[in-house]
Amino acid sequence: MQGNVREHAAVLRRLGAEPVEVRKPGQLADLDGLIIPGGESTAIARLVRLYGLEDAIRSFQRPIFGTCAGMILLDRRHLGLLDLEVSRNAYGRQVASFEADLELSGEDEPLHGVFIRAPRVLDAGPAVEVLAELDGEPVLLRQGRTIVAAFHPELTDDTRVHERFLELVREEGHVRA
Ligand code: GLN
Repeated sequence: MQGNVREHAAVLRRLGAEPVEVRKPGQLADLDGLIIPGGESTAIARLVRLYGLEDAIRSFQRPIFGTCAGMILLDRRHLGLLDLEVSRNAYGRQVASFEADLELSGEDEPLHGVFIRAPRVLDAGPAVEVLAELDGEPVLLRQGRTIVAAFHPELTDDTRVHERFLELVREEGHVRA
């Protein structure tokens, strides 16, 4: 719809996946997974509604990966696919954009996070698992087959978050097969 569509597509291609840009609800049926990129959540939400994609995304039975604005779209107040309360632009004006090394669960090598007017997690339900934190606050989370990042993994050369998403896609594919 809007935002970092190209950047995500480039990472997916690099990892051997075949990205498809989605604008119509019918397209979801052929997908193994869905990424909702960062951008402007109000714009994306408006377009998602306009194109009739709300119900299609809600009933999408495969892995979803939301980054930044995409994370906002998936929260309790929007599509409601994640038991998460998120506050937009919550890192304040001066530090609205910054970069930081993150500790990634199960890995020694830190993950470099690019935060651009990033959302902040105010509350996460019991089913939500924290995969990475920044100063004790969750910035990469997973609930079942849905992953969300407050930062932009598509803007660095580190492909580990996308790899985790593709692993989920593969696992779900086996479950369904
Ligand atoms: N601030 C944006 C919003 O609220 C999100 C920023 C981003 O996706 N980089 O939608």
